[in-house]
Amino acid sequence: EAPKPANFIRNIITADLESGKHQSVQTRFPPEPNGFLHVGHAKSICINFGLAEEFNGKCNLRFDDTNPAKEETAYAEAIAEDVSWLGFQWAGEIHHAADYFDELYAFAEELINKGLAYVDELSADEMRSYRGTLTQPGKDSPYRDRPIAENLDLFARMKAGEFADGTMALRAKINMQSPNMNMRDPVIYRIKRQHHIRTGDKWCIYPTYDFTHCISDALEGITHSLCTLEFEDHRPLYDWVLDNITIACHPQQIEFSRLNLEHTVTSKRKLNQLVTDGLVNGWDDPRMPTISGMRRRGYTPAAIRDFVVRTGVTKKVHTVEMSLLENSVREDLGETAPRAMAVLKPLKVTITNYPENKVEELSAPNHPQDESMGNRSLFFTKTVFIDEEDFRESANKKYKRLVLGKSVRLRNAYVITCDEMIKDEQGNITELLCHYDPDTLGKNPEGYKPKGVIHWVSESHSKTAEIRLYDRLFNVPNPGSAEDFLTTINPESLQVISNAKVEMSLAEAQPEQTFQFEREGYFCADRYEHQKDKLVFNRTVTLRDSWAK
Ligand code: ATP
Ligand code: MG
Ligand code: MG
Repeated sequence: EAPKPANFIRNIITADLESGKHQSVQTRFPPEPNGFLHVGHAKSICINFGLAEEFNGKCNLRFDDTNPAKEETAYAEAIAEDVSWLGFQWAGEIHHAADYFDELYAFAEELINKGLAYVDELSADEMRSYRGTLTQPGKDSPYRDRPIAENLDLFARMKAGEFADGTMALRAKINMQSPNMNMRDPVIYRIKRQHHIRTGDKWCIYPTYDFTHCISDALEGITHSLCTLEFEDHRPLYDWVLDNITIACHPQQIEFSRLNLEHTVTSKRKLNQLVTDGLVNGWDDPRMPTISGMRRRGYTPAAIRDFVVRTGVTKKVHTVEMSLLENSVREDLGETAPRAMAVLKPLKVTITNYPENKVEELSAPNHPQDESMGNRSLFFTKTVFIDEEDFRESANKKYKRLVLGKSVRLRNAYVITCDEMIKDEQGNITELLCHYDPDTLGKNPEGYKPKGVIHWVSESHSKTAEIRLYDRLFNVPNPGSAEDFLTTINPESLQVISNAKVEMSLAEAQPEQTFQFEREGYFCADRYEHQKDKLVFNRTVTLRDSWAK
């Protein structure tokens, strides 16, 4: 058995429950509804919901919707659907940071009353230069020591809409000399006349992320606030806010390293660019590392969850190879996906000694190792298709497929021997003439040995299907570090085959159903475009690792 990957957060929670610091666990997953969730978010989801589940606790789904400019209801709906699809259930209703705007405003007033916040009138540029740099301390704003009453009055008038956008801001009064830039009097409210998807035009001032997040956590009784490492430097501010307002709960913020995946980008901004520039067909394009893209590609929730567990929970910054994700997918589908036969590049084979109109119903197991998955019918006829790649005029011993003058077994059916090829004027092989050995159904032939086993479908008892083959979206392992990541796009990441032939049973495939097409890989019926009279299958992953270096 593989060693259980490190999870230092589990250790902290275990200790907190043992010491009695907490009686139960409450976590949250706090996405900003400004894009679709990606594989990195899947990690955060699995950690937050997974740990809550493990300790019989609860996990909230909270939309961090304090930035009205970039947020959309459609994103919020897609996020909730992705979380459910991964198999997690949030506690109670969905929460929204915007639902706390009244409370947040009151806490800001409390800080002002304590002399811990002030209304600043420096312009954004001035504020930046007063803030100093990592090597240079900041300078106090001339507005820093306004009397409390004046701050209260100005803050109320900011809220009432008396001042133009950007002319004033409420800042926490902490320390302009702090070595931590986040503690140099961070802005906690800004004026922004913008419509909000939940609160409409009620507010023209909006709280900042740092002020909102810790208070939202505390209001929801979060015990462990789990986030990625870039928030480590924000933790002192998280604690400062909660230490200085009247609130009973003080969650512990714990940071872990982000999930980075080779050959892809995990940044909503970059993913958004791929969508808006039309380089992919939407956020849920099967080449996208979004949860909905992976879903449409045929990845299963179990595979994604397994992958996340394997990446571990640490503070080490690292980039995971795509093959780790794909191996999780292969392992899961290897057990759960029924087998079927599909010929991607059909080559006609006529069985010369097979009766003209005979249709023979053969039976094949849906899964070679799992009898409980039952059997399906295959139909054998005089004309069948094999894959172009499975025939050669001549070949060396390593080629375990059909060769002129040699024999091969058709999977789940008979052994055939190739007697003749028919070519067109250009020299392309258009048809093979073969004979079959009637005494080879389920048994070895006598006196000769076929080279291998290949897949096939009957010409009359098959369906035409569109098959989409996907490859990595980027040619380099780390597209995010390229000067312009768009220049590293793989122009051949999608190959569409419009005239593949698939066995009859696949006419019953339901959208999102997954299969192993024998010898070809794992495929799933497209979630949106697959129909009974227009079959569309997406290749989820190849059978073997084609990424191996
Ligand atoms: P992006 O940087 O892609 O825009 P974000 O961090 O701004 O993502 P949020 O919606 O704020 O996106 O993220 C919700 C939660 O998911 C946060 O707690 C965040 O830390 C976590 N998260 C985001 N990206 C990753 C990642 N690559 N690995 C692990 N967790 C992540
Ligand atoms: Mg964010
Ligand atoms: Mg971010």
